[in-house]
Amino acid sequence: MNRLLVLEMVRQHRPVSRAEVSKLTGMSATAIGRIVGDLIDGGLVRETDQYSTGVGRRATMLDIDVHSIMSAGIEIDRNRLKIGLVDLDGRIAAQRELELGRSNSRPEAIVETIASAVRKLADEHGIDASKLIGVGVGMPGVMNPEEGTAVFSAQLGWSNVSFAPALREKIGLPVVLDNDLKVKALGESGTASISGDSKTALISIGSGVGSAIVIDGKIFRGANNIAGEIGHSTIDPNGKLCECGKRGCLQTYITDLALLQEAGQIKPVGSVEELYRLMQGGETWAFNIIDRACTYIAITINNVVCTYNPDTIVMAGSFIDIDPDILERVKGKLKEFIWEPFVGTFKLTRSQLGEQAIMIGAAKLALQRYLGNGLQQQ
Ligand SMILES: [Zn+2]
Repeated sequence: MNRLLVLEMVRQHRPVSRAEVSKLTGMSATAIGRIVGDLIDGGLVRETDQYSTGVGRRATMLDIDVHSIMSAGIEIDRNRLKIGLVDLDGRIAAQRELELGRSNSRPEAIVETIASAVRKLADEHGIDASKLIGVGVGMPGVMNPEEGTAVFSAQLGWSNVSFAPALREKIGLPVVLDNDLKVKALGESGTASISGDSKTALISIGSGVGSAIVIDGKIFRGANNIAGEIGHSTIDPNGKLCECGKRGCLQTYITDLALLQEAGQIKPVGSVEELYRLMQGGETWAFNIIDRACTYIAITINNVVCTYNPDTIVMAGSFIDIDPDILERVKGKLKEFIWEPFVGTFKLTRSQLGEQAIMIGAAKLALQRYLGNGLQQQ
């Protein structure tokens, strides 16, 4: 993590001297000298011909070459595959989106597609493939990032797929696999920063409910890498039966399916967008369903804030994306539901990276893994 922190300080403050980096990180001059040496050897940091103008000895300034290395960030979803080549500033230099259908959505086919698409994308954009240091993959479901296994993904119908090792073999680069919300939160935390000192919680509401927490640039995983699975937190022990067999789980209140089931008691509604339009058209019952969902979202935010004390909450997911008005409604409810000591302690925003968040976060995770392993490809 020290290497990450030093790289991040050079990235943010460039051009910057070793002495300033030492001051910024609180690390000794000796430690900074050694880490900067490693980063220079790895081609990520370079000495400029500028010198610091402060008093004392003239010092060589450091800069980073944002295109010295790149990582690939991949999003796998039920029906699409997104591939991005991401630089050290967290910007996508090249990207491609591919449809996944019945014929090409098996794990072996996806491995083939990613391996050829990454090389092709680099080629088309004049990016030297030798600059690629790793691949990060984000997908929905329970992942084991240590082994690179997709333990279970209902959306893709996968269980115990040893995905990262298969892709590593095919593409010849280190591959890290993680849950989509976790890498999304990593992408959104401090937006461009590789490391950073923020406490970010991401809450996603749509076909499912989930959250992910990033503390100082690191994904908080818990003991079993399922920290943040709030969909099955209990809201009411006497509530509606959930698919998990318990009653009154959060997801029985605010997922798309829960809202549409409720609407169905009045009339069949095909989508949450349609429900929203019915509300705008003046249907009181539709308003009541949306309004109640916003109430439960505000309660969820309070629960997350009480548990993790984040400085930033990023709201994402298809329900939040229907209309900016949804988040405004939620904000209105927060006044009522946030416990007083937490009022004003966090910023509540929508996703800053939008559609690119999973690609950028997955690429960031691959970069973190690379830097953590001592700038060496496995
Ligand atoms: Zn449940």
